[in-house]
Amino acid sequence: MSTPVHRAYIGLGSNLENPRNQVTTALDELNQLPHCRLVVASKLYQSEPLGPLQPDFINAVAALETTLSPLELLDQLQELEQRHQRVRHEHWGPRTLDLDLLLYGDRRVDHPRLQVPHPELTKRNFVLYPLAELAPELTLPTGIALAALLAQVSPDGLRPLASSIS
Ligand code: AMP
Repeated sequence: MSTPVHRAYIGLGSNLENPRNQVTTALDELNQLPHCRLVVASKLYQSEPLGPLQPDFINAVAALETTLSPLELLDQLQELEQRHQRVRHEHWGPRTLDLDLLLYGDRRVDHPRLQVPHPELTKRNFVLYPLAELAPELTLPTGIALAALLAQVSPDGLRPLASSIS
């Protein structure tokens, strides 16, 4: 029997050390992760930071096809973050590269290391807008349509930039 292929959505963010480069490089690296294929990526977006005063973020969302389990994929994402020498100064603080597993097919995961859908997904315009670019018809495993979430979240502070992959 062949291993099932799952569609996962990954949120990328950076606001340190050439954030555009961090994010575009990470998209390429996502495509090279074992048992993963980058299907499509959103445009890059510039977003105003939440929390303490710090530089604007560059964000994007990527769709991956993978045969990894959710936790195996999280391990790979965390290794990739480490390779970008992510510095964890403070919660909500500046970061070289942040990778969030937003969605994994229709699965819900509630594990000490991993919550899927990502708990902040429904509130963040810098996740919802790029995700809607890739999957406008998407319905979350909770039954809520992405379009309904978008209608509740303002695009204020979010600016689409050029295409993520040239
Ligand atoms: P943060 O630094 O805010 O991105 O949080 C990273 C922590 O969140 C790590 O310890 C992960 O184990 C945990 N985590 C829980 N759910 C997720 C998820 N869906 N994607 C990425 N990290 C997650």
